[in-house]
Amino acid sequence: MRFQSTPRTDILFCQKVLVTNTCWYWMASVNHLGYGSFGWQQDSKPFTALAHRYAYQLWVDDLPDSPNLVLDHICHTEECRYAEKECLHRRCVRPDHLQLVTRVANILRGNAARWKRAHALPATSRYDLGS
Ligand SMILES: [Zn+2]
Ligand SMILES: [Zn+2]
Repeated sequence: MRFQSTPRTDILFCQKVLVTNTCWYWMASVNHLGYGSFGWQQDSKPFTALAHRYAYQLWVDDLPDSPNLVLDHICHTEECRYAEKECLHRRCVRPDHLQLVTRVANILRGNAARWKRAHALPATSRYDLGS
């Protein structure tokens, strides 16, 4: 799939990105899950896209239509100590930090990160997790 966009829209998009040595942070709106959200107008119609998905289309390739593929942030790893929603990696739009993975791999990766966090807790609280 391709988002409806023009070179003008692409420039607008780039103006909202803060490039750093590590991640490229989306500085405009963020959705309820903490992902960057980009809105624009074309032919008097409003469009919105997740910022990292728009970035992938802009700098890498069209997004495949398969519902089994999700665009994952490789900068978001088990090292992350932030709550999922607050993690700034969700705002990252750097093309080489984005990777298409299968939905299953994405879930497994998330579970592995959560498991590590749970087991990093002090021994006394380890058994209070209720699972
Ligand atoms: Zn990143
Ligand atoms: Zn993270």
